[in-house]
Amino acid sequence: QKYERVNLHSLLEQVITLMASQALLNNIQIETQFDFTNTWIIGDNNQLKQVFINYIKNAIEAMPEGGILGINASPLVGDQVRVSITDQGSGIPEDILNQIGQPFFTTKENGTGLGLLVSRQIIKEHKGDLLIESSRNGTTIHVEFPLSSEQ
Ligand code: ADP
Ligand code: MG
Repeated sequence: QKYERVNLHSLLEQVITLMASQALLNNIQIETQFDFTNTWIIGDNNQLKQVFINYIKNAIEAMPEGGILGINASPLVGDQVRVSITDQGSGIPEDILNQIGQPFFTTKENGTGLGLLVSRQIIKEHKGDLLIESSRNGTTIHVEFPLSSEQ
């Protein structure tokens, strides 16, 4: 596998640029708070982009009336970095959270039901961690990656 050093900060900026028009069209304001001290992780640039695109797309689709989509990044102890994506949607249904390992689970007319599964798999391959907090008031996806030893 061709893993390389990836600048997580610029990767997030690129993903946000990619998703900006879809957010705007849906009346969604993206609010970022980046608290980067170290930004380099090790991985596959395109796969890592895919992870964040999937979550941001889900967040946008979770807010059909518009709202705020938060994207935060902050360092963690133990040379890890955490990115959190927060929406103000109505939460991930419990049966889906329980079936997250199953492909093709979707509540959308044109959904594939692959986004959560693919993202989770990529995070796992990158030795990252995933934590999903979801309630009726919205969802926050926390993704953690080990930092590269070279910053
Ligand atoms: P898809 O988006 O194609 O349906 P995903 O795997 O990305 O497939 O998501 C599966 C299902 O999980 C979605 O259909 C939706 O019901 C639920 N879901 C995922 N993310 C969110 C979210 N941020 N808020 C509410 N529901 C979500
Ligand atoms: Mg999706």
